[in-house]
Amino acid sequence: MKVPLTVVFLGAPGAGKGTQARVLSGEYGIPHVSTGDILREAIKSKSPLGMEAKKKMDAGELVSDEIVCLIVEERLRRVDCSQGFILDGFPRTIAQAERLAEMLPRLLFPLPMVFHINVGEEELVKRLTGRRSCSVCRQIYNIYGQRPRIEDQCDVCGGKLELREDDKMEVIQERFTEYTNQTEPLIQYYRERGLLFEIDGSKDINSINQDILSVIKSSKVLSN
Ligand SMILES: [Zn+2]
Repeated sequence: MKVPLTVVFLGAPGAGKGTQARVLSGEYGIPHVSTGDILREAIKSKSPLGMEAKKKMDAGELVSDEIVCLIVEERLRRVDCSQGFILDGFPRTIAQAERLAEMLPRLLFPLPMVFHINVGEEELVKRLTGRRSCSVCRQIYNIYGQRPRIEDQCDVCGGKLELREDDKMEVIQERFTEYTNQTEPLIQYYRERGLLFEIDGSKDINSINQDILSVIKSSKVLSN
């Protein structure tokens, strides 16, 4: 029997982990489980856990580790996860990582391969502050990469391009510091357990994907 592939992605905002998770999900035919998506879904379906989460969010509070873990577990029990899954946005804390380590063997899954998509702060700041979005159709551009044909004007609809509030320099630096403080312990946790793989996130999307694939293929997990 094939061993399921279980993957966790870690990476700063703008590092491209969502993109890599989606690509890998297509390649292995296993679901991309994004915490944001499953929380929204649980709330929309008005499941008991979703209602619990909504109560917290409406009160302006963080959804507790406990509720997040239960919602993730509920998701991983679904039949489409039987060959594995890719987690994006979970775990975020050591407590969540410990819950995951307890949950996986119980659900007969192997421990995850954890990919840290590593992009230097300078490069990240450039990517994020370079972002411009169309004020009309929301199309995203980047003044350092995917530029519009005419400056400050959307190729699709001609709308004016703008810098979003959360892509401004101060906000980005704040998010980056917050991310580092929160994620450094997780990286350390997985490194100590031999589950962490550092991926150079400064490369293009396709090269990063190739690097991830070669790690997976050379791992013992799928050797049978
Ligand atoms: Zn537009």
